[in-house]
This record gives sequence, C-alpha cells and structure tokens, in this order.
Amino acid sequence: MIPSVLPTYNRAPLSFASGEGSWLVEQDGRRFLDFGAGIAVNALGHANPDLVQALTDQAGKLWHVSNLYQIEPQQRLADILVDKTFADTVFFTNSGTESCELAVKMARKYRHDRGEDRPIILTFEGSFHGRSSAGIAAAGSEKMTKGFGPLLPGFQSLPWGDHDALKAAAAQPDVGAILIEPVQGEGGIRPVPDQCLKGLRDLCDEHGLLLIFDEVQCGMGRTGRLFAHEWAGIVPDIMMVAKGIGGGFPLGAVLATEYAAQGMTAGTHGSTYGGNPLACAVGCKVMEIIAEDAFLAEVNRKAGLLRQGLEGLIAGHPSVFESVRGAGLMLGLKCKATNTDMVQVGYGQEILTVPAADNVVRLLPPLTLTDEDIAEALSRLDRAASDLAA
Ligand SMILES: *Cc1c(COP(=O)(O)O)cnc(C)c1O
Repeated sequence: MIPSVLPTYNRAPLSFASGEGSWLVEQDGRRFLDFGAGIAVNALGHANPDLVQALTDQAGKLWHVSNLYQIEPQQRLADILVDKTFADTVFFTNSGTESCELAVKMARKYRHDRGEDRPIILTFEGSFHGRSSAGIAAAGSEKMTKGFGPLLPGFQSLPWGDHDALKAAAAQPDVGAILIEPVQGEGGIRPVPDQCLKGLRDLCDEHGLLLIFDEVQCGMGRTGRLFAHEWAGIVPDIMMVAKGIGGGFPLGAVLATEYAAQGMTAGTHGSTYGGNPLACAVGCKVMEIIAEDAFLAEVNRKAGLLRQGLEGLIAGHPSVFESVRGAGLMLGLKCKATNTDMVQVGYGQEILTVPAADNVVRLLPPLTLTDEDIAEALSRLDRAASDLAA
C-alpha cells in the first residue's frame, strides 16, 4: 500500500523535534550536529533568535496580501538585494525551482522582444536546477528526466570542464544564454575556477549571450562572499537565489540587470505567495546579518579552520577519503569508500552530512557554527570514518 506521504524520498529513520544553532534534537533526545543545514538552508542555524523575532513580529501584523498591492517587507528586501549585488531588479519566488522557471522565461522573453530566434540555453553535465519541467530539462540527467518526457525543449547540456565544446556551442546562432552553478552542489561540490567564470563572462559578451548563475546553493555567504561569483570579480545578467536567503522559511528570488529584465512587464509573470510578507521579513533579517563584512570574515576564518581539520581527517583515513574540495563552508569530501555509507556511519556518531554525486559527502554547516562545533564535528567524523574502515 502506498504510504500516506508520497514515497519520493529515501528517508533516514530520524525525526527531529527541535533545534538550536548547529544542533538538532531527535524525538528520543539524541543531539545531532547538523552539517547539512537542511541542504544549505539553515544558514543562520536553527531557532536563530533574530530570525524568530523577525518572523513573529511580522506574524502579529500581516501574513499575506496579494501582489495586487504594495508589500512593504518585499520592497525592503528588494532594495537591500539591489544595494548589495549586481542586480537592478528582483522577483520573489518560494523556491529555487521557481527561480529557475523565471530565469528561463526571462532569457526567452529577452530574445523574443529583440526579434531573435535564439532559444537555446547552454547547461552543464552534473548540474541541478530544480525538479520542475524546466529544471529537469536544464539539468538533463537521465536520473531526473527518465519517464517524464517529452522534455521542455531549449537546452543543450555540455560536458564539465570542456572549454572547446563550450566555445563551439556558444558560437551557434540559436544559442541565447548560458546557465551555470558557480559551485555545483548536487553534482558533488565542483567549483568553477575563477579563471573559467571570467572566461564564461567574456564568451557571453563576445556572442551577446545572457549569463545566468544558479546560486541557490552556493550563494548567501556560503562560500565566504555574499555570492560565490564575487570571488571571480565578474557579474551575471540573471541570478537564481533560494535556500539560505530564507534561513528556513520558504523564499527564493531572481535577480537581474535592467537590461536582461526589460521584457518582464506587467502581466508577464506572477506568483501568489512570491514575496509574501512573512518570508520577506525573515529574508531582510537574513540579508542584514549575512551581508555584513564582519560576518563574512568569520565565515572565511571558520572555513579555513574546518578545511585544515578535514585535511587531517583525510590523512588519518586514507582508505575512506580521497580529498576535500569546495569553497568556504560549502565543502565536499571525495570518498574512496561509498559516500552513502559514510553518511550512514555519521548518523551513528550523531552528525548529519549529505551525499552528492561523484561519490562526495557534502558538509554544509550553518554559517553561524562555533569553533567548538567545528572541533566536535571533526572528532565525530573521525569516529565515523573509523567505524566505516572497521
Ligand atoms: C536546491 C537547488 C535548486 C532547487 O531549489 P528548490 O528550492 O529545491 O526548488 C536549484 N538549484 C540549485 C543549485 C540547488 O541547489
């Protein structure tokens, strides 16, 4: 008999009753160190007092009004995002998938309004852009698309790191945009080198392509800059955001330049919940905290500490781990053992991690984690790896 919850997930037999900071408390009282953070969502930890305050203040005033009207917290968050990023304008969504939908629509509308027949968006093998029809077609992997055809047309997937293939594809007359994660998340924490991001920007400029970054996972301070592309000193034309921006409250956004967004006039797109007052009140507080230089400096300091510890962990368990990669607090342990087995033994030692493609275990702790949390995580991972090796 089919379970009452549609069984599309492989769930661990864990059920959490509460959380605080980097910790989650299981129904039975066990305390787990959360190095998954809801897959880079709980960027400021669990039950963050500032976020609880922002949400409950707003909850006492106004939960929802339609986008038929002005929404003050939405306006405030848009102004903050425009102030802190490359963007001139912002549309709010409820998820990364919805941000992907609009990014694709915006790129297509831009071409249409110029009277151009350039619908193809170049994407990359190993990418993840959500589970909607556009999202799975963009990623293109067999795992996500099998059985769901016919797929939305308009995407061409390229091999990872193949510059010649990319250059040839970008020169095709029907190509209008490139969509890429500056650091692949689901694909196994694979960062695009800064030099390559710069090259991508040049290629887009050369051929008049829109550059779309998916920073749903790598954005919002995760890599030690507000957005990951800032490390390369270049900007996209359109950017998808979600996950960390709501700190656990469903919120996403599409950021764009005036140039890229010019076709999106009244009536061309909409969302009932997108830009909801509760979500945006929390989003404003999240942005206020994460965009601070001092906060990001702390992320970088702690990332250095964690990475150094992980190098030691790998050296101590050469049969389990191969290497560590990633940026900031978006780190991947490339495994020699099976990554899902490593996640399992982690549960035994009461530490949560997340598997990714390419046999990687992802470490995505709350950005607010303490030095003690890092030390505790390293010793729990060390014990887990010993369990796995034994
Ligand atoms: C999670 C993710 C998405 C999809 O976001 P949802 O909120 O699950 O719809 C899209 N792109 C990237 C890079 C992601 O990590």
